[in-house]
Amino acid sequence: MTTTGTATETTTETHCPYCALQCGMRLRVPVDGGVPEVSGREEFPVNRGALCGKGQNAAAVLAPGARLTEPLVRDAAGALRPATWDEALDRVAAAFRDTAAEHGRAAVGVFGGGGLTNEKAYLLGKFARVALRTPAIDYNGRFCMSSAAAASRAAFGLDRGLPFPLADIPRTGCVLLVGSNPADTMPPAVRYLRELRENGGTLIVIDPRRTRTAELADLHLQPLPGTDLALALGLLHLVIAGGHVDKDFVAERTHGFDAARAAAMAHWPERVEALTGVSVSQLREATDLFTAPEHAMVLTARGPEQQSKGTATVGAWIDLCLATGRAGRPYSGYGCLTGQGNGQGGREHGQKADQLPGYRSLTDPADRAAVAAVWGVAPEELPGAGTSAYELLDRAGRPDGVRSLLVMGSNPVVSAPDAGHVTERLRALDHLVVCDVVLSETARLADVVLPVAQWAEETGTLTNLEGRVLLRRAALDPPAGVRTDLHVLHALAARLGHPGGFPEDPEEVFAELRRATEGAPADYAGISYARLAAGEALHWPCPAPAHPGTPRLFLDRFAHPDGRARFAAPSHRPAAEEPDAAYPLRLTTGRTVHHYQSGAQTRRVPALTTADPGPYVEIHPHLAASLGATEGAPLTVTSRRGTVTAPTRLSTAIRPDTVFMPFHWPGAGRANTLTNPALDPVSRMPEFKVCAVRVEAAAPAPEDGTRDRVRDLAPNGAPRPEAAR
Ligand code: SF4
Repeated sequence: MTTTGTATETTTETHCPYCALQCGMRLRVPVDGGVPEVSGREEFPVNRGALCGKGQNAAAVLAPGARLTEPLVRDAAGALRPATWDEALDRVAAAFRDTAAEHGRAAVGVFGGGGLTNEKAYLLGKFARVALRTPAIDYNGRFCMSSAAAASRAAFGLDRGLPFPLADIPRTGCVLLVGSNPADTMPPAVRYLRELRENGGTLIVIDPRRTRTAELADLHLQPLPGTDLALALGLLHLVIAGGHVDKDFVAERTHGFDAARAAAMAHWPERVEALTGVSVSQLREATDLFTAPEHAMVLTARGPEQQSKGTATVGAWIDLCLATGRAGRPYSGYGCLTGQGNGQGGREHGQKADQLPGYRSLTDPADRAAVAAVWGVAPEELPGAGTSAYELLDRAGRPDGVRSLLVMGSNPVVSAPDAGHVTERLRALDHLVVCDVVLSETARLADVVLPVAQWAEETGTLTNLEGRVLLRRAALDPPAGVRTDLHVLHALAARLGHPGGFPEDPEEVFAELRRATEGAPADYAGISYARLAAGEALHWPCPAPAHPGTPRLFLDRFAHPDGRARFAAPSHRPAAEEPDAAYPLRLTTGRTVHHYQSGAQTRRVPALTTADPGPYVEIHPHLAASLGATEGAPLTVTSRRGTVTAPTRLSTAIRPDTVFMPFHWPGAGRANTLTNPALDPVSRMPEFKVCAVRVEAAAPAPEDGTRDRVRDLAPNGAPRPEAAR
């Protein structure tokens, strides 16, 4: 990790600002202030030089145009006006003090993000518990990875997205990819799947849409959204019936198989076909592919996780791995393909409602004492666990909720479920404070907006989906008037009576994070900026400076005290909202190849908005014909929470009983206006992936007699005519 310079430019080895793959890139910054450029770093093993379109255009978000460069405060007339940093910070501190005095400390809340560096996530959690002394903190990662995290903790005793490096994928025999579309979400990762198949392995993709990833598969199963749990149980049934259980592994390394067997035997193939729409013959084919090789993996992403039964669903997929002995062994196991840039590290270091740094628990006396000692406070001064992200937002401005809220690194007006309702709750706050790079949709509602630095303008560490800790060094100065998130926390803490304990220097924060995580499940004690800068590949746990890190977990034992994994043994249950006469279709949501999360950054990059300019409703031509909908014509989609309008996109890739919308856009086409905030009882993850909707043509179909143009997904992502398929 170096920065080198010539007379005309400096070059910094860094990482992409977007997804959890954290592709290695070089950022060249002209000394004359010209436009920076990025290129992939071939020597970084995760992406080996490849970048997707988002990464290739990452430098565009550094351009001054759309940036916030001065704090904004809302004036008496209700408009945002420029302010000095002192005025803005004084106003925030006064608001937090007033709210705490009038309504209690728990009425001041904090909402973080899965893109924040480890240092920011750590200091944000400390700020909430020490400076504000509030339990009210959670983050948008609750919307992304919490079900997989909960299921992994229950099964293995520890949650790390992938317990093995991506490089192991080509060396396994079969990958069962559930609800994941890396061809769009993290394209450089597709190389691992291609190499798997080149090596003779097989790929099974489970997705309600025939995505570009599904087109690569040996077998694509296309279940109804919300039925992945039944599908997993059906496969486990066939594994048991076919005699494919690894009895020695189950006896020596697990607990609870009898309950899992009972659950699976209640989900016979014909029942599962009726529930999922996947035929018995396809279920048998998948079972054969998965059980034939010596090694196999199950990888999940948001599809099975973002459900009101996401924890149970992931648990069922883990049960399939455990029953077949595909866990805790080389080239085998269960993994979650984490989504946000620091989705892994962001969930480890204390911005989650119930958690302290290093995956320590806020309810465990020993964990509280360990962290309190590092923070220099008494354990009893630490508040208890707070409520989850959606619940925090849902109660905002209410008597039992927060009245003042600090949002850092998140745009819930676009990304939260039932986003219209969440927007109302944010408007009901007494004080909303947003730290952001741009005037996001959430920042537009704020009383105070603080302009902060972004990826290439500040130094910090991130932990990618493999648990690999990465150093992302500052490559250029932020624009004048912009400060870092760490500075904001430092300055606010000082105004709230904590002049020490909140350093602005990221390396100083990381040094404290190392101490706070020493001996914890996610142990960073042995990781240092110096080791990362020297290019060491360090996966946590890394408990000592001489420790090499742990790229592969669970090979000897699982992380429960007795070393054994636990079966989850769930049973199928329907989605929180099933179709009915008023809302006869299912809606599922997801990402496009050109945009990232709420789009706050990528919607400001011309190359990406040209390629993918706005929301759409993907719908099967048969369904479209029954509605009189044509390609490009507006469709209205209505759920029990609201109505949106977006252009029709015809595609045979989607089931005729399901429609798909990407969720990157605000306004009339905001997909999250429709989504259901029904929560998983364990992870508190909302059910983004399935809700009941009604779809109607918003305008009459053209009467020129032309045949509808059917959009399908060609391997390069371009639309292709039906005749070419
Ligand atoms: Fe960035 Fe992810 Fe694309 Fe890699 S795959 S370039 S990390 S957005």
